[in-house]
Amino acid sequence: MIIDLHVHTKPRSACSHIAPEELLAEAARLGLDGICLTEHHGLWDRAELSRLAGKSGISLFTGNEVTTDQGDVIVFAYSGHVPEVIPLADLQSAVAAAGGFMIAAHPLRGFKVFGIGQLKLTAAQAARRKMFQYVDAVEIRNGRLNEEENKMAEEVAVSRGLRGVAGSDAHRIDEIGKWVTILERTVKDEAGLIEELRAGRYRIGTAR
Ligand SMILES: [Zn+2]
Ligand SMILES: [Zn+2]
Repeated sequence: MIIDLHVHTKPRSACSHIAPEELLAEAARLGLDGICLTEHHGLWDRAELSRLAGKSGISLFTGNEVTTDQGDVIVFAYSGHVPEVIPLADLQSAVAAAGGFMIAAHPLRGFKVFGIGQLKLTAAQAARRKMFQYVDAVEIRNGRLNEEENKMAEEVAVSRGLRGVAGSDAHRIDEIGKWVTILERTVKDEAGLIEELRAGRYRIGTAR
């Protein structure tokens, strides 16, 4: 089951240019089986999701991209209220108690831009970031990051013994499917999805 784990649509994510309806057509064209709508601080309503999916044959899942004091985290299977810029430790205890799943999103984004690159940040140093103590997995392929940033995220995941997942982080229609997570089994809901991620029954790839 080919899933893009990280997609934003408008108007729920103000930064996105993708209308939910055009998303489905593009996903079908690319041969995707599922899309996770990971809006910023806002889950989709279940009934709305199935109405949107309609007869497309594409499974839609919902998650949140939450801004924490340690960076962005994608959260699945947690429906509690999440305030803006929550301390990551607080988010982690709430999500863990609910049996949810947390992914460090684009963890090394801009590590060059912000000048850390000049300090020769190594994967070992990056791995000491607090972020990685609290998450279940790390996004090691993000469609909006460059190769170097993704590679560093992958090294960090390996060194921390964390699973690596992939998603496009699409904000434009031509970004969907840039990176995908390919599950060995078909899942029907977020609980099933995180079970497969936890078990490592997947590989990463691209649909473009
Ligand atoms: Zn983000
Ligand atoms: Zn995002």
